[in-house]
Amino acid sequence: MSNQFLDTSIEYLKGVGPAKAELLKKELGIFTFAQLLDYYPFRYIDKSKIYKISEINSDAAFIQLKGKITQIQTIGDKRAKRMVAKFHDETGEIDLVWFKGIKWLSSSIKPNVEYIVYGKPTLFKNTYNITHPELDLVSDSLLANKITLESVYHTTEKLSAKGLNAKGIFKIQKNLTSQLRGKIIETLPFELIEKLNLISKEAAIINAHTPENEVLLQKALFRLKFEELFYLQLNLLQQKVIKAEKIKGHVFGNVGDNFNTFYKNNLAFELTDAQKRVIKEIRRDVGAGEHMNRLLQGDVGSGKTVVALLTMLIAIDNGFQTCLMAPTEILASQHYEGLMEMLEGMNVTIELLTGSVKTAKRRQIHEDLENGTLKILVGTHALLEDKVKFDNLGYVVIDEQHRFGVQQRSKLWRKGRAIPPHVLVMTATPIPRTLAMTFYGDLDISVIDELPPGRKPITTTHRFDSARMRVFGFMEEEIKKGRQIYVVYPLINESEKMDYKDLMDGFESISRRFPSPNYNISIVHGKMKPADKEYEMQRFVKGETQIMVATTVIEVGVNVPNASVMIIESAERFGLSQLHQLRGRVGRGAEQSYCILMTGNKLSSDSKLRMETMVRTNDGFEIAEVDLKLRGPGDIQGTQQSGLLNLNIADLAKDGQVLQMARNEAIEVLKKDPKLQSENNHRLVTGLDNMKRNKVNWSRIS
Ligand code: ADP
Ligand code: MG
Repeated sequence: MSNQFLDTSIEYLKGVGPAKAELLKKELGIFTFAQLLDYYPFRYIDKSKIYKISEINSDAAFIQLKGKITQIQTIGDKRAKRMVAKFHDETGEIDLVWFKGIKWLSSSIKPNVEYIVYGKPTLFKNTYNITHPELDLVSDSLLANKITLESVYHTTEKLSAKGLNAKGIFKIQKNLTSQLRGKIIETLPFELIEKLNLISKEAAIINAHTPENEVLLQKALFRLKFEELFYLQLNLLQQKVIKAEKIKGHVFGNVGDNFNTFYKNNLAFELTDAQKRVIKEIRRDVGAGEHMNRLLQGDVGSGKTVVALLTMLIAIDNGFQTCLMAPTEILASQHYEGLMEMLEGMNVTIELLTGSVKTAKRRQIHEDLENGTLKILVGTHALLEDKVKFDNLGYVVIDEQHRFGVQQRSKLWRKGRAIPPHVLVMTATPIPRTLAMTFYGDLDISVIDELPPGRKPITTTHRFDSARMRVFGFMEEEIKKGRQIYVVYPLINESEKMDYKDLMDGFESISRRFPSPNYNISIVHGKMKPADKEYEMQRFVKGETQIMVATTVIEVGVNVPNASVMIIESAERFGLSQLHQLRGRVGRGAEQSYCILMTGNKLSSDSKLRMETMVRTNDGFEIAEVDLKLRGPGDIQGTQQSGLLNLNIADLAKDGQVLQMARNEAIEVLKKDPKLQSENNHRLVTGLDNMKRNKVNWSRIS
């Protein structure tokens, strides 16, 4: 938005002037008319309905009444001093009560003149009254001006003191929107406006601030949110198009012996439809000469590993080497062993490289990598070391992506030769679609949204600490059946000492209840040496211990199919995605599995909702959506520093559908006109430029 009128300094707006303008600049960064228009309300109050006093009942929310004040009295003194006005309409009477501003009010309220009263009735000594209501003369009221929806704006103390409280800002917005006709330039292509039946930019801005009615308000908000998200997506997708043009990828043209042999002889189960679909998506990418950068999301246990392996075999069939990187040694070695097992009888070379691999072995691995005989390398960060050089790296798989940074991803890239390897990033932390579309807008996304058949859903219950004895009883029964159990304690840095104490206390009471030699218990926490940790983990993995007491170090992917119970202590202190990750440690075998969430008796409403959500569903995506709603997009892992969150009117937590639509339309536009060169799209070029400029401005301010 840029034209002379809109660039006018805010002090020249009716109702503002130099003093208020100074404050608007300081407090809200509003210098111009355009910037005031960009300052949208956060909510709207419906003031179309007038209630009768006789209609008031106990559950009334904020309401409007119309009537006259007949009597004003000041009663009580000191702190209890208050002014009470008798207010009535033709159906009854109610008290209006003020504790503050009495002096000014008592001199300005006019008896026997019609007022509109707005407030929340409360029951006091069997009669209703309204404390600190808004009071407007009917002749001044919104209704007299045919305004039924009041916009509510965030403001600050300093602004309020100068008359720019929520209502004051609404007032100056009204002064501005009443002058807007004919002054707002359209910013979306005509085709798009027609196709989606959008209202004009001008009507949208006017109605977002001063809605004519509910229908127009909704249309206005939709149009503005759509536009904001559309440009965001258009920008991301355009960058992707540019990247795809610049960066060529290896072509994996044939599916050969390794893939086919594995499919025929080694694959022990039928792939799920979701797995098949994802493999197709990957094959389409790697077969086309473009560089693949793909995020694979799939809940724990959805079978991402076999998808990785099958596609790695395609790379090998085309003469390339591959690697799989995991965030911990335990995970890397589990992957290594799992892949070895799956590849049994096949002639595919595979090695494990971690920090603890001995020098001689390490040298051998380096050599085999460089001469090309080693085809699959599994490992940890150790893969990133400069000494690790490939002959012909074509395909990289990264497991549990949020533990690795973008930098590490690009380090792996550079291990390819002239052409970077294709990259598949796998994550078991489902990211809500709306966030994925925004933060990974330049990645392609595949989703495995189906678990292999025959899995019994994990039964989750919520128990209070007072039920601990019963929980111990349940543990005993499960151990009798031959199962193993995790008991997990939170570890949060600021209260580390307390957390360790909790862990050790818990360990002691479990040890007392489950004494040796009948029972063996492992304990693992962050203060232990890696070797000791590993030893304790291995005892549990091998089944030598029945109970594993741990802090959250086990969160990441260990696989013990015989473990069927996950007990999470102080579950209220964990976030939803972490709870879901932890629960995913069980339910990997054929047995019915359980997750027990232990909490104290007093829970905040958010904690309650988290527990209820966990009990209700096993679906990671559903949980991620609730998480997003609870915490807002700013707190979702890995997104904090992103400038993408500086949305002005859209809300990623609430506007998922609009976002999806915006993305689809942006794709559509770029498909027809990848460089935005057509006459019809000239507004988009301007719009993108404006957006980028505004984003820069924004980041300078904040
Ligand atoms: P995750 O997605 O959590 O990494 P895994 O790849 O470890 O899941 O798979 C979990 C388990 O499910 C493994 O034991 C694997 O062999 C098995 N599995 C994978 N796909 C299927 C399938 N289509 N049918 C049956 N079992 C499967
Ligand atoms: Mg996995």
